Amino acid sequence: MRDVFNFNPGPAILPEPVLESTSKAILNFANTGMSIMEVSHRSKDFDALLIETESLLTEILNIPENYKVLFLQGGASLQFAQIPINLLPSGKTADYIDTGNFSKNAIKEAQKLGNVNIAASTKDDKYTRIPEQSELKLTPDAAYVHITSNNTIEGSQWKTFPDTGNVPLIADMSSDILSKPLDVSKFGIIYAGAQKNMGPAGVTIVIIRKDLADLCPENVPNILQYAVQIKNNSCYNTCPVTSIFVVHEVMKWLKDLGGLKEMEKINEKKAAIVYDALDSSNGFYKGAVQKPYRSLMNVTFRLPSEELEAEFVSQAGKKNLKGLKGHRSVGGIRASIYNAFPIEGAQALADFMAEFEKSHK
Ligand SMILES: *Cc1c(COP(=O)(O)O)cnc(C)c1O
Repeated sequence: MRDVFNFNPGPAILPEPVLESTSKAILNFANTGMSIMEVSHRSKDFDALLIETESLLTEILNIPENYKVLFLQGGASLQFAQIPINLLPSGKTADYIDTGNFSKNAIKEAQKLGNVNIAASTKDDKYTRIPEQSELKLTPDAAYVHITSNNTIEGSQWKTFPDTGNVPLIADMSSDILSKPLDVSKFGIIYAGAQKNMGPAGVTIVIIRKDLADLCPENVPNILQYAVQIKNNSCYNTCPVTSIFVVHEVMKWLKDLGGLKEMEKINEKKAAIVYDALDSSNGFYKGAVQKPYRSLMNVTFRLPSEELEAEFVSQAGKKNLKGLKGHRSVGGIRASIYNAFPIEGAQALADFMAEFEKSHK
């Protein structure tokens, strides 16, 4: 057992059993006598692992047959560009819903590539909430609608996904994928950098409805075409072998734990512990997001002054509560409590919050 509670926003905490099995595979993968870092992405043993990773993820998320799971590189940030490159032809418009920093980054990339309509933005409310369905100004035959399901920096989360009719809904789920059950069939594409809830940095999961992959113009470079990646089962070029191995281990861990229903229960418990600590402080700690939109993954809050916030982060660090500093663009405190984060860590933070408040009121 480690003595540090890792609240880092990403790369983030991984389950202990995953670290153990990975350390073994670093020395000897599947009794090959070679490290997972040394084996070919086209070897029989790795191919079997890749297939199993996809089938575990498909089982856990209940992904329908008309979807394909891809293991790509370039992070969620490459998806900000790859999506419009594949799916936004000239003459069409893509709708984007702006709920925070990462939505904004996705919008900026899409604007370089095509016509973008901001269907709603909560910027004027300092991103403290998610828009309601009635606020959305959707384009009737948009190429797609893009949302950020969990706003990692601001600490807000969609609780009910927008209804986009026949227009494909695309979601950046980097920071809450696999945190609760999900109806994949509501989406055209779901994508996530693995380094928050699925594994280490270096691999990006894209779950794509197969018919959408066929819309890409032919003059797009091969490596950027979803159809090419589907045809080559994510191995058009050397795929991120070691990162995929870790995702495989995380999927096994999640399945053994009881899958997404069980995961959701645990995540709700953890979040309740921290939000209760926040709300019972009578205003010493102030949540950064309006209550109905609070994220189960990233708990963001403020203290009465920036000096106290710096002191909070520093004293917490000395008590082995690491990574609590808010993102540089918004300040404050952020406790990232992803799937792998233990309930004891949430309790340790709540206890520390009460203690810190007492000695600094
Ligand atoms: C971390 C994060 C990103 C950026 O991911 P990269 O893999 O670094 O490109 C994008 N969107 C969300 C919601 C994130 O949490």
